[in-house]
Amino acid sequence: MIQLYIPLNFLGAIYREIKQSLTDLDRMFTLMDREREVADKPGAPALVVEGSPTVRFENVQFAYEAERPILHGVSFEIPAGKTVAVVGPSGSGKSTLARLLFRFYDVQGGRVTIAGQDIRDVTQASVRQAIGIVPQDTVLFNDTIAYNIAYGRAGATQAEVETAARAARIHDFIVSTPKGYETMVGERGLKLSGGEKQRVAIARTLLKNPPILIFDEATSALDSANERAIQSELRSAAQNKTALVIAHRLSTVVDAHEIIVMEAGHILERGTHAQLLSSGGRYAHMWALQRDAQEQQRGGATESGMN
Ligand code: ADP
Ligand code: MG
Repeated sequence: MIQLYIPLNFLGAIYREIKQSLTDLDRMFTLMDREREVADKPGAPALVVEGSPTVRFENVQFAYEAERPILHGVSFEIPAGKTVAVVGPSGSGKSTLARLLFRFYDVQGGRVTIAGQDIRDVTQASVRQAIGIVPQDTVLFNDTIAYNIAYGRAGATQAEVETAARAARIHDFIVSTPKGYETMVGERGLKLSGGEKQRVAIARTLLKNPPILIFDEATSALDSANERAIQSELRSAAQNKTALVIAHRLSTVVDAHEIIVMEAGHILERGTHAQLLSSGGRYAHMWALQRDAQEQQRGGATESGMN
């Protein structure tokens, strides 16, 4: 009896987990990212945020698997209302910083604070309420496009949803779908491309208008015309907000209060764009490479007779 009961219960748990992963916003980084148990402390209060708060990472250490440390003591501060940008090679731990701030996982050493409060001491729901995130890979709900945009801002009007969709350059696409804003999306509905999903996530974040923003390569799936247009929307959305911007294109981080260059789970360099350029290190090298690549592209367009 017991032997039979346990496996069935176990299967039930797996089924629930899979089902939830399709519908739970807290799993929107990637469907495959298995969530570790992050539980509220008994009687944990809500995060208290007035305006845009200061965010701090203090000597943060973290591993997904105990035997493989990922972050080796990372410290930085995003002053209230400022933007800190994170750049660095793939696998260096950039998205992990975003996941820890959203409290997908708890840190194993050090702490992350918002307005001076350790995010492990307050409710997850209140932390996530204060943050708008555009992840690298967006997973949508099996629901209408309108629902997917309005999520996170209960009571948004259709007009507000449309304004956000226009700013994210997804409105025209939406009205071209069979039922417009009422079209079902997701596994059981209309399948959206990576870029379309990313723009839905951007619209949602613009509509939510939270005091803290996380953009994790938020426009990486977009073509360059859309990317340029949306970058300027994101820049204005981040005005006076506390923002963590993970960037694949360095031209988008030039104005950041501080730029952090990550490598293999630690901070290799940090400073303003001008400071990092003049110190002639890794960032300056990356900047030169991207500039050359851009110039080559532009040269290519001219040669192919576009003007
Ligand atoms: P970046 O965003 O800079 O490309 P990530 O923060 O996503 O890097 O990943 C940092 C390291 O952590 C990588 O080596 C990656 O393989 C590993 N990693 C990321 N997510 C997980 C996970 N869910 N389980 C185990 N390892 C992971
Ligand atoms: Mg990443």
